[in-house]
Amino acid sequence: MRATDDILELLDQINLASARANISVKLTQVGLDLDDELCSQNLERILTRAGQYGNFVRIDMEDTPYTERTIRQFRQMLAKGYQKTGLVIQSYLFRSHIDVEELQKDPIRIRLVKGAYKEPANLAYPKKADVDANFDALAQALIDCALAAGSPSLSEDGRIPPIPAFGTHDEKRIQFAKDYAFRVGLPKQAMEFQMLYGIRRDLQNLCSNEGYPVRIYVPYGTHWYPYFMRRLAERPANVWFFISNLFRK
Ligand SMILES: Cc1cc2nc3c(=O)[nH]c(=O)nc-3n(C[C@H](O)[C@H](O)[C@H](O)COP(=O)(O)OP(=O)(O)OC[C@H]3O[C@@H](n4cnc5c(N)ncnc54)[C@H](O)[C@@H]3O)c2cc1C
Repeated sequence: MRATDDILELLDQINLASARANISVKLTQVGLDLDDELCSQNLERILTRAGQYGNFVRIDMEDTPYTERTIRQFRQMLAKGYQKTGLVIQSYLFRSHIDVEELQKDPIRIRLVKGAYKEPANLAYPKKADVDANFDALAQALIDCALAAGSPSLSEDGRIPPIPAFGTHDEKRIQFAKDYAFRVGLPKQAMEFQMLYGIRRDLQNLCSNEGYPVRIYVPYGTHWYPYFMRRLAERPANVWFFISNLFRK
């Protein structure tokens, strides 16, 4: 499958360039929509290649028709011994606190995000304030788990992330995570902040200058359009951001 081959190539190139980078994969890119077994074979190829280079693979979380199947695939890979992989949890989903509780029975690397898809009100908090409050509660749970696991730090080569990664540009959420981690004694290198390429560079620099690991997420490939439209839908101001950059020399 082409997407899988591209991801394998990307892992090769990261290794050749000794880049401080890992990869994120959406399972529908590698066949989840077609067949669970096919997806699992592709994912296993990716994890095997990443393992050869000592690299890490983050499994992105998509919309709710895929939540359960994504977690199942992730667990299957852990059971097969692929440890250098992590998952994403979305704070807009009601189920997420149970998922975090279950997943954190082992110290699993989790990226916490608010969630990017349109979801029905019986599955996800419709109000932003509730999504934010749940983000803080889950951030707290992940920080506690990292402490209990001995506060593993970002790896020297920048590839294996700490247990909690916070994928947000929301200053209040970021400040909450920093304050709580400081209060309970989680070292800065034992958590990381992740932001989208080009968004809130000031905040990226601030966190980095304060001594926190910061990872930049760079979407690429032929399926950029739906991704781009979701980002525009969640923040119409991006239309202007996009147009102004399109015409900038
Ligand atoms: C590294 C990373 C990985 C992600 N992976 C996933 C995933 O696997 N699954 C998933 O469902 N979602 C994922 N997301 C998207 C996430 O769920 C949110 O939709 C997205 O991050 C916007 O929410 P926010 O937390 O930044 O907070 P918001 O409350 O939406 O925004 C807070 C502030 O950040 C700034 N901001 C936010 N977004 C933008 C923007 N696009 N352009 C300009 N300014 C902006 C604004 O100042 C805004 O006021 C990911 C996000 C990041 C950063």
